[in-house]
Amino acid sequence: MESIKRVEALLEQMLKPDRLQHSYGVAKEAARLAVLHKADEQKAYYAGLCHDICKNMPSEEQLQWIKRSAIILDDAFYCQPPIWHGFAAAQFIFEKLGVEDEEILGAVRYHTTGRADMSLLEKIIFTADLTEANRDYPDVQTVRTLAEQSLDQAVFYILRYTFGKLLVNGDRK
Ligand code: FE
Ligand code: FE
Repeated sequence: MESIKRVEALLEQMLKPDRLQHSYGVAKEAARLAVLHKADEQKAYYAGLCHDICKNMPSEEQLQWIKRSAIILDDAFYCQPPIWHGFAAAQFIFEKLGVEDEEILGAVRYHTTGRADMSLLEKIIFTADLTEANRDYPDVQTVRTLAEQSLDQAVFYILRYTFGKLLVNGDRK
């Protein structure tokens, strides 16, 4: 796995300041949740750090990265630009950073959409994205409490209460 320093240098080039701060927040929160729920702490930190690496890229460029991957996506996917950045990021870190770990790639790829039968690391990044320290929205304490108790419940809550919002106005980070 590439060094954290290499990722940090890339993130600083590619992300706006608030997005950079969010990325560090997710990395720390993911590592904390990994310890709590017995997952790999280093992988969690790394995946958290990388998850939004393509977020500030123009949509067209995100699409180019997605098309370089072998993942088959349907028309509904292509109608939702806000969900592209995770899929783009998985391909980007695979090619640019040499990340081959499927757990990390999956956690980055599905961090906004989730999917059926999510892995432990996927649940951690999906949840940490919404419970990191910089987050402030009406339900944040509820989601933080759920994340301590049960990742499945946290994921379910997030899907139920925020995924609909993403489809409406695309403001999910
Ligand atoms: Fe994101
Ligand atoms: Fe994020």
